[in-house]
Amino acid sequence: MVRILLRLNENLVSEPIVSEVILENKVLVAILAAHINSKGGEIVLEVPDEEVDKIVSAFRQKGATVTVPKLIEVDSNRCFSCGSCVALCPVEAIGVTEDLSIQFNKEKCVGSVCNICVDACPARAINSVKFSNAENMCSSNVHREK
Ligand code: SF4
Ligand code: SF4
Repeated sequence: MVRILLRLNENLVSEPIVSEVILENKVLVAILAAHINSKGGEIVLEVPDEEVDKIVSAFRQKGATVTVPKLIEVDSNRCFSCGSCVALCPVEAIGVTEDLSIQFNKEKCVGSVCNICVDACPARAINSVKFSNAENMCSSNVHREK
């Protein structure tokens, strides 16, 4: 599966374009996160590898901007296991192991559309990183986050 980040402008945000793309292409797409208001929105989707190019093209034809979200990475040398990031994560992607070290679940993390833990860490131990095989699989169609 490949994660893509849709950005919708204020004109698109009230349109059912995710549903339209799913129905028109008959592809199962998981919605991992969505932040939407009247000025626009960001939606993180998970798309089957083999369908990425088709889905990206379909969203672009409807006017959405499509990118690959950055994910986060923890520098264990900097982390002092304060736990501040654990409770803040909205998708429970951060846990504490038996030896009290911090463990990130990259399957759950929605990355740069969130970034709450990156901003919250007092040790600056968490960074946004460019990620994923998706860049290789669909580099012609998907722009990386800057
Ligand atoms: S970026 Fe957001 S979703 Fe990902 S681990 Fe940090 S708080 Fe959780
Ligand atoms: S907030 Fe930073 S220092 Fe504290 S547990 Fe999380 S990664 Fe480690």
